[in-house]
Amino acid sequence: MTKDLTSRMLAELKSGEVFRTAHQHNLSYLEGVMDARVFPGEEALEALTIFDEELPQGHCDPVELLNLLQAKGAPATVSTLGGRYFGLVTGSALPASLGARLMADAWDQVSTLYAMSPITAKLEEVAESWLKQIFNLPPSTVAGFVSGSSMAIQSSLAAARYRVLQNLGWDINAKGWREAPPVRVITGRHTHSTVVKGLSMLGFGTDNIEYVDVDDQGRIITAQVPELDESCILLLQAGNVNSGAFDDFEVLCDRANKVNAWVHIDGAFGLWAAASERLAHLTQGIEKATSWSVDGHKTLNTPYDSGFVLCADREALVNALQASGAYIVYSDKRDGMLYTPEMSRRARGTEVWAALKYLGREGLDDLIWGMHERAVQAAEALNAEGFEVLNDVVFNQVLVATDDDALTERMIGHIQQSGECWVGGSRWFDRHVIRLSVCSWATTPADIARSVKAFVDARTAVS
Ligand SMILES: *Cc1c(COP(=O)(O)O)cnc(C)c1O
Repeated sequence: MTKDLTSRMLAELKSGEVFRTAHQHNLSYLEGVMDARVFPGEEALEALTIFDEELPQGHCDPVELLNLLQAKGAPATVSTLGGRYFGLVTGSALPASLGARLMADAWDQVSTLYAMSPITAKLEEVAESWLKQIFNLPPSTVAGFVSGSSMAIQSSLAAARYRVLQNLGWDINAKGWREAPPVRVITGRHTHSTVVKGLSMLGFGTDNIEYVDVDDQGRIITAQVPELDESCILLLQAGNVNSGAFDDFEVLCDRANKVNAWVHIDGAFGLWAAASERLAHLTQGIEKATSWSVDGHKTLNTPYDSGFVLCADREALVNALQASGAYIVYSDKRDGMLYTPEMSRRARGTEVWAALKYLGREGLDDLIWGMHERAVQAAEALNAEGFEVLNDVVFNQVLVATDDDALTERMIGHIQQSGECWVGGSRWFDRHVIRLSVCSWATTPADIARSVKAFVDARTAVS
């Protein structure tokens, strides 16, 4: 680095103007985001061509750079922080958690080892213990703080593969897959695509998945789960991505535990039902599984990206994600990289700790129950307007249909372009549906009423 550029950056760091500018822009963005259009309008999208430039030859003024981001970048954001984004399963961010994130970003910590960031290791340790209490998991459970459920599922499957093969007398790390004894993978037909992706990435082979039929809510039909044995990995679901339905954990975990099979629960958004007194019945029996994948950035409303792999078999998880290298100095404190596929990671445990500390048990219950109440409100109001709701609204998901699939499709486009709210489409058995997922602390009854009106207006406009 030339002396010239270093001294320039030193001056920028010390004067603080770059950070004050970023801070001011953030304040004005956050002030307006609740009332902003949900999906950006045409003009904002067209203005993005300003970023199509040649790689610059020299440096530029960092404040001007931030001003460009604010002027042309911010208007092309999707207002997922607000209360009217109902696409996929997309969380907002709690102010306390977002604030903690901004601080952790300024600290620029790496959560690889205790030696690289004691505070990050401490906050991960505390968050791990709180998560175990919330989900009532066995004392042996450890948590890895990963980017989201995709990586949490991948890590869990790696741990499951390690343990199941170890039980069959095979060391997968040393000997690999090629001549390994067969491992069976059993899951419901409505398993999430990231589970299938994880199985494919780890070499299980998607053709080898033993799919079990599901009932009209997308729950695995317990009686159709085949005879299990110790070569089996059973993948269950807390929160079907369309209907929000939960599998029967109690019965299936008991069956699996009798024969020493591994049970993983994909609870990306739904596992959080455990934290709400009136919804906890949905998650009955989850503590009997071996591993769990959950998101922070969905129901808990931490900023992106944040998810956790939780595993009651520490040895299997650590061995499956093993790393070696003489320069790695493990400590008797928490070394985060033991529980994640990544070596270097940002300090995302900070936002998780902040969200849980801010909410406490009562706030968490309030947050999750509130999402359920808004979903029920949406379902009832849409029903009253003559739409069909196809699922039992047990959690935060609502599947809406009209009697004409083509009309339903056209409505989705119209609603998205209106900027009033954002919903996506899906297929539910043989029907086209509009998926509405309530996953934001900011969604008020008025937001639901306004969004229902957007549905009604869209139907009128495209009929
Ligand atoms: C969102 C989701 C995933 C994937 O999670 P990411 O955090 O996006 O990686 C997996 N399973 C279910 C049920 C989900 O809703």
